[in-house]
Amino acid sequence: MISIFRTAVTLALSLSFTACVSTNSPESGRALSTGIEPKMAMQALKDGNDRYLSGDVRTHDWLHERIAKTGRDGQTPSVGILTCADSRTPPELIFDQGVGSLFVVRIAGNFQNDVGIGTFEYGVAALGVHTIVVLGHTKCGAVNATVEGKELPGRMSSFVAAIRPALANAPKGADGRVSTTDAEIANVRWQAAELVKRSDILTKAVADGNLQVVGAMYDVETGAVRFLD
Ligand SMILES: [Zn+2]
Repeated sequence: MISIFRTAVTLALSLSFTACVSTNSPESGRALSTGIEPKMAMQALKDGNDRYLSGDVRTHDWLHERIAKTGRDGQTPSVGILTCADSRTPPELIFDQGVGSLFVVRIAGNFQNDVGIGTFEYGVAALGVHTIVVLGHTKCGAVNATVEGKELPGRMSSFVAAIRPALANAPKGADGRVSTTDAEIANVRWQAAELVKRSDILTKAVADGNLQVVGAMYDVETGAVRFLD
């Protein structure tokens, strides 16, 4: 069912997206798997992070392995990542993945919005993304600004407004305040739930068993990723 839907979405979008995003025509099939199967996605990401931590990263044969191939045949990313714009959180490095594997949305404070949801809907419905990781991180300036309730100039107040609802149910300390660490975790959980809840396409994909959405935290001091329950 989802494949029929995916084909329909691909066809519907292909005319308007080919200029900026590769799509897979029915003729090309889906043979160009990036190799991360749904059941192995979490382990593949954990293994990639282990390689990143140990310094034993893969020697990506960029030109021949992925760039020329995905450029010619189209992209079939397996994993979507919603993470922060923070320069210390590059997903391909953190998970030791090559070109064509990860479908990434980055925004300060890793929050969902209409554009991000639409991007993941396209990734799931047209490209075959089967796993989405909402990846928060320690020492997040956007989350900390929200916790502190700072007045920010210009459009920066927009990410504070987007993160604030996520902190409503975060645990409070003895002083009645939410710690930045608890806020970062609460933000990941809430944004992941909202990402699915606000999208009929993602909700159906989850219900049909074609999509898993998980939360994780990245430690900017150690490089380690911890997946949340
Ligand atoms: Zn951040």
